[in-house]
Amino acid sequence: MSIPIHDMHCHLDFMGNGEEVAKAAKEAGSMLFCNTVVPEGYEPAVARFAGFDNVRVGLGLHPWYVDDDPDLHDAQMEKFESLFERTNYIGEVGLDFGRRFITTCDSQVEDFENIARMLAKSGGKVVSLHAIKSAATVLDTLKSAGALDNNICIMHWFSCSVEDLHDAIKAGCYFSINPMMSQTGKGKEYLKLIPVEKMLLETDDPENEGQDYTFVEQQFRLSESLSGIQEVKDKDKKCKMSAEEIEQTISENAQKIFDEIG
Ligand SMILES: [Zn+2]
Repeated sequence: MSIPIHDMHCHLDFMGNGEEVAKAAKEAGSMLFCNTVVPEGYEPAVARFAGFDNVRVGLGLHPWYVDDDPDLHDAQMEKFESLFERTNYIGEVGLDFGRRFITTCDSQVEDFENIARMLAKSGGKVVSLHAIKSAATVLDTLKSAGALDNNICIMHWFSCSVEDLHDAIKAGCYFSINPMMSQTGKGKEYLKLIPVEKMLLETDDPENEGQDYTFVEQQFRLSESLSGIQEVKDKDKKCKMSAEEIEQTISENAQKIFDEIG
């Protein structure tokens, strides 16, 4: 039997034909962690994919979508809070201090601190984290709130120093790897440092909202991530795992999370 490949960070609700993709994934035994980007997107996505027991919908407040208008900003957070207890899947959340989004950084930090406090209080959730030029702040925020130890934290899209990466590994975070990461020098350096036991695969697809997509494309992109990892680990003398063992371990990592969180 072939080893199922799970997509631990996609935007299934952005796919025009998300139901078709979910159905094909279900038939192949593939689990999908669908991340939403605003709290308003959570309930429609849950309703849309209710028939697919291989889909988990995350409650999200993506840093790119944090509203800077004070009234709208408060309304967004109130909506997030009102839905928080309904799910054990949180994502996509985090911080983006890249040039394009630095203007909203105060609002982003305020929201993420709030989310970290909620996570610390509840525990038992899985969180998909966006951390561009902000990995240290993301980790510090989770740590000082007390949310790092009692939740499963997945670094999804991140850029950070090697030191920050070591901190995240030490803190027990998982890392979901997309094909881009195995193509850049920096990405390959990260892959060398992250233990296979903490790796997951993701597509972060589709690129545009409303786009049609296929399960074949999704599996192809996940396989690309996997072969990138296998290539890096093959060259690393410290890693004793075969390509097949790597594939098996990464699949089981995801399965373990779904078994634990439900
Ligand atoms: Zn995403």
